[in-house]
Amino acid sequence: MPRSLLFLIADTGGGHRAAATAVSHYLDRAHPGEFSVEIVDPFASASPRLLGRTAGLYGPLIQRAPWLWGGMFHATNSRTMVRTAELVMRSVDPAIARLMTTLEPAAVVSFHPLLNRAAVRARRRLGLRVPLVTAVTDLVDVHAFWASPDVDLVIVASPGGLDRCRRNRVPADRLVQVGLPVDAGFSEGASDPGSRRARRLHLGIDPDRFTVLVCSGADGSGAIDRRARVLAGSGLDISLVVICGRNQRAYNGLAGLHDQMDRPVSVHGFVTNMAEWMTAADIVVTKAGPGTIAEALCAGLPLLITWYLPGQERGNMEWLIDTGAGRYVPGDAELVDEVAELAAPGSPSLLSMRAAVAQLARPEATAEVAELIRSVAMKLS
Ligand code: UDP
Repeated sequence: MPRSLLFLIADTGGGHRAAATAVSHYLDRAHPGEFSVEIVDPFASASPRLLGRTAGLYGPLIQRAPWLWGGMFHATNSRTMVRTAELVMRSVDPAIARLMTTLEPAAVVSFHPLLNRAAVRARRRLGLRVPLVTAVTDLVDVHAFWASPDVDLVIVASPGGLDRCRRNRVPADRLVQVGLPVDAGFSEGASDPGSRRARRLHLGIDPDRFTVLVCSGADGSGAIDRRARVLAGSGLDISLVVICGRNQRAYNGLAGLHDQMDRPVSVHGFVTNMAEWMTAADIVVTKAGPGTIAEALCAGLPLLITWYLPGQERGNMEWLIDTGAGRYVPGDAELVDEVAELAAPGSPSLLSMRAAVAQLARPEATAEVAELIRSVAMKLS
């Protein structure tokens, strides 16, 4: 009989679900039949519905008022504010308590900053011994919400994450730095030009043309449509793949682009095969989302960062610049210039960025995170 594992996420963006899914896929492959993993967004069934709806506002908020998001991030980024915000967050507790009671999980893992403390409260209220793990899905700037000192293990992806959790009194023996879990598909055949060509043929894109993937998180924020148009109209000899995610407005607006251009352009809404697209591309043009960055690194892709969400993503952009794996190109003219430079035959910049990408990629992080969760879950049973 497989033991149950409860993974808590929220569909605010796509990174939380992607990390949880990557760990779940690894456990299925490496330890078949051992666990049954439930990935649940408790905000979706929170009571009152107001809280669920508030979580659903994340996408529109970061599209239309990212400055407001940035302001909220910084204003709440302290232990005092976290304690205050907890009063509001309590309405998600019953949903988590119900899940813990019905699933009787061997461990509960929070992949979302707003759910760690809710899991601690539910465990206390139910008088359970179930181990709690936090798997931090941000890269560099880790909000105080993530750092609950009362869970059994906190897994972070960077020295910045370690530092933030230490300052928020997470005991050193419950803190470990690994990396962001990324699905294995992102690194399969990533450095093999033959597989890249085969994937392009399979996806119906030119196998021989320099391929630029434009995406911007699950919500397609940061003027993805404008940037796609600029590249499509640039006259550069490239293949363009645009993934708008849940940004229906951008997708509708770009739908006719394919027919207007003399270069191949392939436009998509939300895709469930991001690994295929990434491992078919040469570079990625994106916002500084942690999930996309970790995936692109595993896929061997240099990154051009056009935008970052104020708050948790600025540090990601700076880290990529410092390491040489990415460049920041907020302006349209700069974007075209950078793509032209990287797409040029034998581009030395492309080679040096690829070398930096290879240094940073952590495809083994998924297995390490999953094995840590497994060992915590095994301890109790
Ligand atoms: N993603 C996806 N399909 C899409 C767009 C995005 O599966 O059409 C995934 C992407 O592969 C990544 C996640 O959504 O795993 C985006 O995470 P990130 O941290 O980059 O940004 P967020 O959406 O959380 O702001």
